[in-house]
Amino acid sequence: MKLDGKRFDDVIIGAGMAGLAAGIRLAMYDRNVIILEKHNAVGGLNSFYSIEGRKYDVGLHAMTNYVPKGIKGTPLVKLLRQLRIKREQLDLCPQSFSRISFPGVDVRFNNEWSFMESEIIQAFPNQKDPLQNLLKKIGEYDALSLEGKNIPARTVVEEIITNPKLVDMLFCPLCYYGSARENDMDFAQFVILFKSIYLEGFCRPQEGVRTITRELVNKFRSAGGTRKMKMGVSKIIEENGKASNLILEDGSSIYADNIISTAGLVETQRMCSSLSPSSGSENIGQLSFVETITVLNKQPKDLGVNETIVFFNDCEKFTYAKTQDLIDDRSGVICIPNNYQFGENRDLKEGLVRVTALANYEKWKALDTTRYQEEKSKAFNVLTEKTHKILPQLKQLHPKMDVIAKDMFTPLTIERFTGHLGGAVYGAPQKSRSGQTHLSNLFIAGTDQGFLGIVGAMLSGISIANRYVLKENGSFN
Ligand SMILES: Cc1cc2nc3c(=O)[nH]c(=O)nc-3n(C[C@H](O)[C@H](O)[C@H](O)COP(=O)(O)OP(=O)(O)OC[C@H]3O[C@@H](n4cnc5c(N)ncnc54)[C@H](O)[C@@H]3O)c2cc1C
Repeated sequence: MKLDGKRFDDVIIGAGMAGLAAGIRLAMYDRNVIILEKHNAVGGLNSFYSIEGRKYDVGLHAMTNYVPKGIKGTPLVKLLRQLRIKREQLDLCPQSFSRISFPGVDVRFNNEWSFMESEIIQAFPNQKDPLQNLLKKIGEYDALSLEGKNIPARTVVEEIITNPKLVDMLFCPLCYYGSARENDMDFAQFVILFKSIYLEGFCRPQEGVRTITRELVNKFRSAGGTRKMKMGVSKIIEENGKASNLILEDGSSIYADNIISTAGLVETQRMCSSLSPSSGSENIGQLSFVETITVLNKQPKDLGVNETIVFFNDCEKFTYAKTQDLIDDRSGVICIPNNYQFGENRDLKEGLVRVTALANYEKWKALDTTRYQEEKSKAFNVLTEKTHKILPQLKQLHPKMDVIAKDMFTPLTIERFTGHLGGAVYGAPQKSRSGQTHLSNLFIAGTDQGFLGIVGAMLSGISIANRYVLKENGSFN
C-alpha cells in the first residue's frame, strides 16, 4: 500500500498496547485510522521473539488488575468492555502466589487482599492500624484525574506507615512494575499500582503476550483499521499550532486530523518540526533493566518452587535507582511464568525462569561487541547465583543437563526494539498526564501519559482516543 499523499482521520504512532487499543476504539467508530509501527512485530515493550524456533516473551511477567469473573467496575472489566473483547479470549489464568523477600522478612500475596493483609500483620503486628489508614487513603484518592498534581508517594506513605522496612517492601513490586522515577513515584501512580497489584492481582495467558496481541490485532483489523509495519514516523510537521502532516521513514508524507503518539513524550517532541531534535534531554528516563531467561527441561514447581513471582531485596535499605555498574543485583524480580494456575490437562512443556535487575544504559552502550557479549555472560552468572540464594531449590539444576537454552536482554535491546531513549522501560519521569502537547491535535498515550503496564497502556490508549477524538467529534457523549 502506497501511503504518500494520503489523508487519514487519525494516525497512531506505535503498535504497542496503547496504540492498538486506541486504534480499536477509533476504528470501531468508523474513523479512517492507521497505525504506523517502525518494527515488524506488534506489542512494543510487550512482544516476543524467536530463537531456533523457541518463542520468548519480552515483557510479560504478569498482567495486573486481575479480578475473577463477575466482579464489575474494575479496570480490566472496563478495558474488555471498551474493546469489546470477551474475557475468555484472553485466557487469563491467576497467579498461585508471589512473595516480597527482604532480609529477615517475607510477605506473600495472591489475588486476595485479605491474604496479604494477614501476612503483613503477622510480620509487622504494630502496622495493623496504619495499613488500614493507608487503604482508606488509597480508596479515597482520585488517581485517574488527568489534571492531578504530582505528589511524591513516599512522603504520603511514610506519614502513614511508620515502619520503614514495610514501606520499602510495599514499594518494591510497585517500583519494579511501573516507576520511571528513582526510589519514588507520584502518589497517583502509587494508588493505581497498589490497586492493580495488591488489591486486584496477577494473571497470564498460558501462551503469553501473543494471546493478547493476537486479539488486539484481530479486533483492529475487523473494525476496519489499517496497520503499516516497518514504517516509522520520522517527523511531525507543524503549521499554525497544529500538526499538519507526518514524514515517514521512507520519505513519504501523510496527512491527519489527529495524531496519537505512543512513542514516548521526549521521543515525540523530538519528531516535531519546531522543536530541537535534542529537546527534552532532562526528561529522558534513567531506569532500565536487564533480564535473563533460562529454559529448563523440568518445571521449577517439581523442584519445590511454588511462587509465581519473587520480588527480592537483600540489603537493609531498598534502592531503586540508576546503578553506576552494568547491573545492580541487590534487588530484582524472579518470575516463574509456568507457576500460574493454568488448570488441569495443560501441557507445560519446558520450564522457565526469568530474572530482572536494574541496569545502566550508558555502561552497556560503552562496551564494544566482544566486551558486550562477555559482560552479558558475566551478568547472567551473577543473576543466576542471586536466584539460587533467593530460591535455593533451583541449586539442584545441573547447568548442562537441565538448562536447555538461555538468553538475556539489556537496555540496548529495549532501546533497539521500542525506540525508548536510554532503554527506559517506564519512559520519562515527568509524564503528560493530560495527554496534551504544544500542538492542539497531537496527543500522547501509553507509557508517557503515566498509565503503565499492559492494562495501564491499553486504558491510556482508550481514554485518549475517547477524550480527544471521539468526544470532540461527537461520536459519543
Ligand atoms: C522487560 C519488561 C518487562 C515488563 N513486564 C511487564 C509485566 O509483567 N506486566 C506489565 O503489565 N507490564 C510489563 N512491562 C511494561 C509494559 O510492557 C509497558 O508498560 C507497556 O507495554 C507499554 O505500552 P505502550 O504502548 O505505552 O508503549 P510501547 O510498548 O513502548 O509501544 C510503543 C511502540 O511505538 C513504536 N514506535 C516508537 N517510535 C516510533 C516511531 N517513530 N514510528 C513508529 N513507531 C514507533 C515502538 O516500536 C513500539 O512498538 C514490561 C516491560 C518490559 C520492557
